Amino acid sequence: TRSTRFASTYKFSFPDSHAKIANPVDTPAFLNNEFVPSKASKWIELYDPATNELVTRVPQSTQEELTAAVDSAAEAFKTFGKTTAISRQQIIFNLTRLVRENMDKLASLIVIEQGKTFADAKGDVLRGLQVAEAACGAPQDLTGTVLEVSKGMETRMYREPLGVVAAICPFNFPAMIPLWSIPIALATGNCLILKPSERDPGAAMFIAELARQAGAPAGTINIVHGQHETVDFILDEPRIKAISFVGSDKAGKYIYERGTANGKRVQANLGAKNHCVLVPDANRNHAVSSVVGAAFGAAGQRCMALSVLVTVGQTKEWVNDIVDAAKKLKVSGGFEKDADLGPVISKQSKQRIIDIINQSEKEGATIALDGRQYTAEGYPNGNFVGPTVLTGVKPGMRCYDEEIFGPVLVVVDVDTVEEATDFINANPYGNGTAIFTQSGAIAYQFQRDIEAGQVGINVPIPVPLPMFSFTGNKKSFLGDANFYGKSGTYFLTQYKTVTSLWRSEDAKQVESAVNMPT
Ligand code: NAD
Repeated sequence: TRSTRFASTYKFSFPDSHAKIANPVDTPAFLNNEFVPSKASKWIELYDPATNELVTRVPQSTQEELTAAVDSAAEAFKTFGKTTAISRQQIIFNLTRLVRENMDKLASLIVIEQGKTFADAKGDVLRGLQVAEAACGAPQDLTGTVLEVSKGMETRMYREPLGVVAAICPFNFPAMIPLWSIPIALATGNCLILKPSERDPGAAMFIAELARQAGAPAGTINIVHGQHETVDFILDEPRIKAISFVGSDKAGKYIYERGTANGKRVQANLGAKNHCVLVPDANRNHAVSSVVGAAFGAAGQRCMALSVLVTVGQTKEWVNDIVDAAKKLKVSGGFEKDADLGPVISKQSKQRIIDIINQSEKEGATIALDGRQYTAEGYPNGNFVGPTVLTGVKPGMRCYDEEIFGPVLVVVDVDTVEEATDFINANPYGNGTAIFTQSGAIAYQFQRDIEAGQVGINVPIPVPLPMFSFTGNKKSFLGDANFYGKSGTYFLTQYKTVTSLWRSEDAKQVESAVNMPT
């Protein structure tokens, strides 16, 4: 009797255009490996950002549904927590194959709900898939240690799962960020409650279905929906032991404080303001095209977008090349083959971006390229903002002080690389940064002195592959164990040590060796 678009694998609809959906169906929860229609009384309407036509309604999951998710995960953990790392590895192997085979389908769900271009949506899936691929090697990081501590006596240290854990995700990478948690939870033997962004849950729902097909037992991955009420439930539910959050500063600080006050582990990846330094000896074409891609790609809605350009000396003239290249970018519906970037997520987001540009102009910035009036042909109602470049920018202006999260590049001029380094270090955020130079000595000095967690040298968006971790720092991260890689495995496991004695004849002697000295 379930009439949702997720009722079975075969009923998922994967659009390939922005045509109005005739009969939008409601998004269900995913509980115990089944799609369950919600009994919610509150619904969040989700619109295609390119057209503002309704795509689906996302429930504010009821307290009963939220409790059912935790019951399901807690029950599943009784057996899943005792499975071997090797058997869990097989599930992740299967999941990687299924995600790869279904990449286009996942991408289509992302385009219709989130707005990014189809090519960029596939990149979103791929970067998540790489986390799953690296997680196939997690048993290596789960190995314990053992030491003979006395004759006949040894201590073994195990890494054990925590139990029920949760992930709270942002809107901007609807596949990648759920995939920062799902494979790691499976690899470590935890059971996960995932709350996708209420603005684009479709990809996470389909990944949950793929995890089921991959062999994830019922209850190991559950998906609930909603906004603050769901987050508060997760924060206060004692059976949830850890929370992985990615999103804005405001929500993250709240989640970190309330989650840790309730005794949970919390890792929180937050907002950013990433600076890029142009040194005069850089390869000009490479630098310019890298900055254009990293500032405007995904409509600037990446936490690693290069949103501040710091020009050293004569490179301020290169801004003209950037403006020329940015003018040529086509902003359109994400399914359009020639679209370089799509709309921003919502009307409110578009209005906020325009307000920031307006205010910064009043505060003295110069608009070198103005995307405020951009119209995308064939999409009169979409949330489109054209690439925008603001020059003469200074701290204290709203466009510098806030994360804009739109296709807006702000430009600051300095005279030396040292000045650029000091300027960047004075910014509270530390997600990422990049420098373009052909000088090894300048690059080396920069990488040593710069206070940012992910540094690119002639690389615009330096997120490392997931055999490393995502290492934003300063105000861009709260917690102490980063997402995925070794840190991700450690975040979701706790130690157990076992000290044993298997020698009877001289047990007395051993005993005295481990007694507290008197
Ligand atoms: P958001 O904080 O609005 O939402 C993230 C999640 O938190 C959502 O699931 C949402 O439902 C929930 N939420 C929102 N406000 C809340 C509140 N007041 N209380 C409780 N829960 C709340 O973030 P977003 O707009 O979806 O995502 C964009 C932000 O995420 C940007 O700041 C971006 O830099 C950041 N981000 C950071 C990284 C990173 O790795 N550092 C990666 C992606 C996105």
